[in-house]
Amino acid sequence: MKLFTVGPVEMFPETLAVSSMQLPYFRTNDFSEIMLENDRLIKKSVNACEEDRTIFLTASGSGAMEAAVINCFDKNDKVLIVNGGGFGTRFTQICEIHGVAYDEIVIPFGEKLSDMQLNAVEKRNSKYTGLLVNLHETSTGQLYDIKLLSDFCKKNKLFFVVDAISAYGADEVDFSKYGIDVLILSSQKALALAPGLSMVVLSRRMIEERIDVMSPKTFYFNFKDCLRNMDRGQTPFTPAVGIILQLRQRLQSINDNGGIQVICDQSRYIAKMFRKQVLSNGFMLPQYPMSNAMTPILFERGAKEMYNRLRCEYDMTVTPNGGELADKMLRIGHLGNVNWEGYKQLLKAMKTIKETS
Ligand SMILES: *Cc1c(COP(=O)(O)O)cnc(C)c1O
Repeated sequence: MKLFTVGPVEMFPETLAVSSMQLPYFRTNDFSEIMLENDRLIKKSVNACEEDRTIFLTASGSGAMEAAVINCFDKNDKVLIVNGGGFGTRFTQICEIHGVAYDEIVIPFGEKLSDMQLNAVEKRNSKYTGLLVNLHETSTGQLYDIKLLSDFCKKNKLFFVVDAISAYGADEVDFSKYGIDVLILSSQKALALAPGLSMVVLSRRMIEERIDVMSPKTFYFNFKDCLRNMDRGQTPFTPAVGIILQLRQRLQSINDNGGIQVICDQSRYIAKMFRKQVLSNGFMLPQYPMSNAMTPILFERGAKEMYNRLRCEYDMTVTPNGGELADKMLRIGHLGNVNWEGYKQLLKAMKTIKETS
């Protein structure tokens, strides 16, 4: 089965080789060194400074989203959430449960985030302390304008919390340039590792002004505890040892082969070629700016049939949508161990299915 998904994605043989090996015990200097190497390479890949810190959580990305909210904000805060789909809504649900007040910038499906919505927020004259955004809203494929959001946060002195789980390794994610305070990453998207490990990069400002002084009501996801342990390359609890080893292999390989930019360029190339072919074969694309991570294809109806027939007749899996878009959108991932040859096969199959449905 060939995966054209957003995560988990096709893994690389080198990663699979690592995952087949016996796991080591982890309270050792050797393992600490691997953790510190991962910290260094993650920060390098997003252009973070030495004084910024990475923590490693044994959780899927949503766990890291929740952990970030509860360690950085509390009931005295009011945050802004860019809500343009399922992942934006997830941030609102997390804030709701934890009693963090929020306002939403709702982006109706099909529309794009622009300075109009941000200007309207400024006119409200409400005092916000942070902005939470899923840089690539994976449920629709929209890539938000990070510079626009970054400028807005700087101007209004907001903590800038960026879930770049599906943007990292596909689109530009620059921690220092855009003044990011919390950057959330996860193992199963462009890193093409097994799911279950998430990374959170924290700015010095966030650590000093928030993490160090707050007392979040969480035992397992306490960032202060994580940071204290990371001083010596460790985690408070047993980490996802296997995925951490996969991560080191993958980060070293990316670093040795020109850096994260090379991975982004590959996705950009595939996305560009694929979209051109998709349009010339009579399929529809949305009008908003798209991430290189995936191509959302729009259907009047028939997305479900396309998904099922690709799986049953061609052994290919793309990413279906849920909810209202279930029969109207399919998402084709451009992450992991994929190449243009595979997309030519996929396009051929899609064309045949379209003509015979
Ligand atoms: C995949 C993804 C997540 C994480 O989802 P999990 O199912 O918890 O792994 C979070 N945010 C975005 C934008 C994603 O694409």
